[in-house]
Amino acid sequence: MPCGPDVETNLAISSANHLKVRFIQQSHDYFKQAEQLQTRLFIHSGEINGEPAAGGILLQVLPSAGIESQHQFDHLVQLTATIKGEELLTLEPKEILHRLYHEEDVTLYDPQLVAFHCSCSKKRCENILLSLCDEDIEHILHERGEIDIECEFCGAVYLFNKQYIEELKRIKKQQIH
Ligand SMILES: [Zn+2]
Repeated sequence: MPCGPDVETNLAISSANHLKVRFIQQSHDYFKQAEQLQTRLFIHSGEINGEPAAGGILLQVLPSAGIESQHQFDHLVQLTATIKGEELLTLEPKEILHRLYHEEDVTLYDPQLVAFHCSCSKKRCENILLSLCDEDIEHILHERGEIDIECEFCGAVYLFNKQYIEELKRIKKQQIH
């Protein structure tokens, strides 16, 4: 198999597409299980003027919506699925809304800046550790040498060794007495 820039680019694109499909599937599972809200995510990645770019639409039923919203949601999913990847990357949100939902009632809120934030912390993990029984902690320490807690949301890993955990327990005991 010839291996040059084209092959590498294709491999990069196909693995990016694979990741995208996995990400979308996991997101749908997450919203179904954790939020229990009907949700569909449409995302597209590509390039604008040679720069990597991504755009997407999250379609979600509001918690206050009634049971009849299922039919409306399916209808909106069908409408939203007609958006082309190219349009997601290049059109203004207002234009996308008009193009997709011009026959619907649309309320447009002021845009808000988004930033990633995860509420996990070392302190939270310490509380989890302190809620485990001594035998469980001993068992994991014996098997692995230390305890690692991974945040499933952001991927952060918090490591605790035996010494650290003993110190935690000592401080907790002091606070109780
Ligand atoms: Zn996290």
